[in-house]
Amino acid sequence: MSAFRAALASLRALPLAAFWRMIGVMLRAAPRESALVFGVNLLTGATTPLLLWLGKLVIDDVARLSTTRPADPLAAIAGSPVLFAALIGFVAIHIIGDALDSIGSFQFSALRDRLELTVKELVYTKISSFEDLAPFESPELLNIKQLAEQGLNRVRGLAMGLTNMAIGVGAAVPVLILSLSVAWWAPILIFLAAIPTILVNSHYVNRAWGIEQAQAGVVRRLQIYEEVLTAPTYAKELRLFALQPVFLGAWRETFGAALAELRAVRRRGTIAAIGASLVSGIGTTLPYLFVVQAALSRRFSLGDLALYAGLMFEARSILYKVIFNGSIVREAAVGADAIFRLLDLPPTLVTRPAAPRITDAPAGILVRDLRFSYPGSTMPALDGVTLQIHPGEFVVVVGKNGAGKTTLGKLLCRLYDPQAGTIAWDGVDLCGCEPAALRRRIAVVAQDYARFPATLADNIGFGQLARREDRAAITAAAGQVGLVPLAEALPHGFDTLLNKQFEDGTELSGGQLQRVALARAALRQPTTELLILDEPTAALDPKIEHEIYGLLRELAQGRMALVISHRLALARLADRPPCAMSRGV
Ligand code: ADP
Repeated sequence: MSAFRAALASLRALPLAAFWRMIGVMLRAAPRESALVFGVNLLTGATTPLLLWLGKLVIDDVARLSTTRPADPLAAIAGSPVLFAALIGFVAIHIIGDALDSIGSFQFSALRDRLELTVKELVYTKISSFEDLAPFESPELLNIKQLAEQGLNRVRGLAMGLTNMAIGVGAAVPVLILSLSVAWWAPILIFLAAIPTILVNSHYVNRAWGIEQAQAGVVRRLQIYEEVLTAPTYAKELRLFALQPVFLGAWRETFGAALAELRAVRRRGTIAAIGASLVSGIGTTLPYLFVVQAALSRRFSLGDLALYAGLMFEARSILYKVIFNGSIVREAAVGADAIFRLLDLPPTLVTRPAAPRITDAPAGILVRDLRFSYPGSTMPALDGVTLQIHPGEFVVVVGKNGAGKTTLGKLLCRLYDPQAGTIAWDGVDLCGCEPAALRRRIAVVAQDYARFPATLADNIGFGQLARREDRAAITAAAGQVGLVPLAEALPHGFDTLLNKQFEDGTELSGGQLQRVALARAALRQPTTELLILDEPTAALDPKIEHEIYGLLRELAQGRMALVISHRLALARLADRPPCAMSRGV
């Protein structure tokens, strides 16, 4: 009884709101395809019961005519309007059914693809709309993102499950009507007998999803191991240190543990489903026994017997179709629930345009008593940091590893907001600045600079999208960091793709990539007011490093610059002694 109650509860726990919302998304994404697929499939479903009914008419009429042993069977067919019409109907329904099938499959693929495209676009747009980095680092948010990505795979199932269910529903109506003509209680019995199967299914779908939800972190760990095993970034050291067995072992162990729990639930679900299908089997075959004995006592014709035999099998197949696809739709609904949880997440970075001005802050940037811990971390990365950059000043920050220098740079760009303290720019608290507007005023060369999967020209042009197509400006920026000879040596010059995984792509060295990052900042620089350089020469060879120092001073001309570095030579470029950050090791 408790299993029954649990099954009922799981049926109630179906995320109906998410289900209907996702249906709304589907109807908006592909209105024409949805209407066509469901209309066509309802009609397709009705063809089999109609054929069964025509079959009954043929059998009864043939039985009647055969008693007279007609000399010309063709003339007998032509002379019997019912038999003639039934045979024509047979041919027509077969032809129509095949045509509907082809239209249905074609439209279904279009519907499934459009739905997938729309939902993926919603999810990726949402993820890219986060202005800060916290959502990519907080475990709870990562779990939601993970589940939503798993949900994406299930949403394809929504289109498939619903369209197959439409075939079942299209068949169910004529089957019910025809069954009523034999015995009114038969459809009711068939339906009641199916209830245990429906409940068992929904209960175990919920249990399996519950486990997947609890394992979102484990799935992420699996993905990380998979990346270590397959991504080019790790390929070299994985081999040099012979680490393959370590990560393969960790991956296998994690996968095995995650699967074991799911497998146990699925096994119990299968056993319960077999028990439930026994009940539904009895429910569908009892009416058949009734018709057999009624045919023997001549209350029903042979046509009725054939019709009912066909209807029984059709009813069973409809039930299985509805139950099987119902559980796919349920899975899609729980997946949709995870997707909407992600889509409904509020932004983690809140801008307060009405934040009061910091009246005692001078022109330039004033960082005061800054305290910040990364998401999920209790150790502060910055604790009581204070710093001032006057207009036009070139400031160098030094400190041990882990002192918080990079973190300070990230907070200046509002990639995170501090937990305490303030950053004021010309007296305006950064918490009151729109991140996009703020970032337009800043040029950054990050320590872990990105290499975008794009051409060399784009990798520089991304520094200032408005000048992405301005080849002269891009060449000039490349010239400032000494990249032109390299561009000329590349197989397609500035149009060479900077990723070996592209056909025709090329891999640059660390130093060359650092210069690309510098060129990106150089292209952006004319319109910005603050330059942040995080170890900007770490990957450069000493010969070019000195040339770059000149460029850095040039780039910083007339604007503020914050340079994070442990190189003393860089410290000498500063307008005043370096600011030391004392934490770290
Ligand atoms: P620095 O640039 O001075 O070497 P960072 O600013 O990179 O130091 O790091 C300061 C502290 O914050 C370190 O203890 C580091 O472990 C921690 N930290 C840096 N980045 C992250 C992150 N994304 N998540 C959690 N902790 C981080």
